[in-house]
Order: sequence, then C-alpha cells, then structure tokens
Amino acid sequence: MPDEPVASIIVEALEGFADGRFRSQVEVKRFLEGKPDFPKSGPSGYVHPSRVKDMLERAVYAGCVEAPNWGVGLRRGHHQPLISFATHERVQARLKGTLNAPARKDINEDFPLRGFVLCDDCGEPMTSCWSKGRNKLYPYYLCDTPDCASKRKSIRRADVEDGAERLLRELQPADQLLKLAKAIFTDIWEMRRADAMSARSTLESQLKDTEKQIEALQDRIMNASSPSVITAYEKRIGELERKKIKLAEQADSAVPDQGRLSDFIEPALAFLSSPWNIYKTATSPLREQCSNWPLQSL
Ligand SMILES: [Zn+2]
Repeated sequence: MPDEPVASIIVEALEGFADGRFRSQVEVKRFLEGKPDFPKSGPSGYVHPSRVKDMLERAVYAGCVEAPNWGVGLRRGHHQPLISFATHERVQARLKGTLNAPARKDINEDFPLRGFVLCDDCGEPMTSCWSKGRNKLYPYYLCDTPDCASKRKSIRRADVEDGAERLLRELQPADQLLKLAKAIFTDIWEMRRADAMSARSTLESQLKDTEKQIEALQDRIMNASSPSVITAYEKRIGELERKKIKLAEQADSAVPDQGRLSDFIEPALAFLSSPWNIYKTATSPLREQCSNWPLQSL
C-alpha cells in the first residue's frame, strides 16, 4: 500500500472518479500528472494510461485482496483500506459504463445567489447576466420564464445582494427558539440512531444468510463431478463474497458514534443563531448553502 503523500492523491483520484468530479480516465491521468508528489513514468512527467486503469480497478485500495490465478476470489484483507468498498464498486460501475457521472454543480462565483432568488411574478429562479454599458459590463439578475410578465426585466446585482444581506441580518432567532431547536435535533438524532441500530441488525442477519449460502455451495462443490457445474458454483460464490463484503461494510458504518451528535449540532446552531455572520465570512459554496433561505420577498 502506498504511503503519504501518494496515498492521499490516490484517494482523491478514486473518489473523484467515483463521484464524477473526473469525467473520464483521461481527466484522472491529467490530475495525477499535475501532482508533483505522484511518481511519473518518465522524466517528461507522464503517467501511462494503463497505470490509471490499473489503479481504478485495484480492489486492494478498498481493503480487499484477490488472486484469481491462485483460485482466491475477492475477499476482505487485513490491511487498512484507502477507500470504502462502496466507492470501489461505483468506480467499477463507471468503468463499465453502467453508472453515469452526476451532473456537475453549477457554482457561480460572480452570481452567488443564482438559483436562490425567485422572480416575484412567476416564482421561478432568476438567472443572471452581464449587460454591456458604455465602457464596462454590469451584472444583473433577471427572469427568463417565457410567459412571465417580468420576463427579461433585470435587477442590478448589487440591489439583489444587498436585499439578501439585509434579510440575513434580520434573521436572529431568540434564545428560546435555539433551545427548542437543540431539543428537536437531539430527539431526531435519537430516533435516527434507533432506526440505524435496527438496520444494522437486519444487515447482520443478511450477512449470516450469505455466509450460510456460501458454505452450502462449497459443500455442493465437494460432491459435484461435472466441471461446468463446479464453475457455475464458483461463479455464484464469487458474487456472494462480493455481497458479503458490501453488507459487512454497510453494517460497520450503519450506526454513527454518539459523539457525532455534537459535531453536527454545534455548526447547525451556530448558523441558526447568526446566518449573517456565516454568510459574510464563508467561501462561495458555503455562501450558496447559507443563501438557501426564503428570499422571494426581495
Ligand atoms: Zn418571472
């Protein structure tokens, strides 16, 4: 297994390919070539395409081992995985073309409120544009709904954003409300945790079933004489082993630590207590999240 800093680069490449940040193997290759710490194939800073493919296919990064030539099918190894088995499976599905990458999120630095500001007339999200003045470009938000009374009626960006900021400044809930919010969060958390525990025991019994099925098939192989029947059993065992790894991983991560409640609740309450402070200091993607407030009445 690779050491740092190479390990982190591999994780970023694999997760990026799984979630669609990299649309193709070529994009992964370019990403790796752009990392000075990643070992290159030659002095020209080149990463061979077959190395990219090999890296994407390797189950060892998901904590599994296999040695088909030795008759050892895929199974969980004893080493620390770099990525989850679920991520590994998503990567394999994308390689086979059975899973399309999700659409890239349209994050617009120039118009952080795009998609959140709705038209007063039709209620659809407003779009944005740069409009040409005498000697420079001016930013506007505008409605682009074909049959809307306000179609193409534009509002200066500064007016929209000042209005949004004014609204956020006014959103300062009372102390009592925050206490109530905390109590509700905690209740929901406990309910979810109870659900998660019962989900985990379901997964564990499915895991036991799968193990029993594998054992039964192994017994049948012992008694079978036809090579084609044995091959069919072995193929089925391989599928069940895959399922077993997936179930075990799901069961392991089904129930979050009790300590994570405060990890979630503190930032959420900080945001509720003063959305304006967070909006003002946040970077763009977070600003977008913060602006997911009802701003129709600008
Ligand atoms: Zn409209």
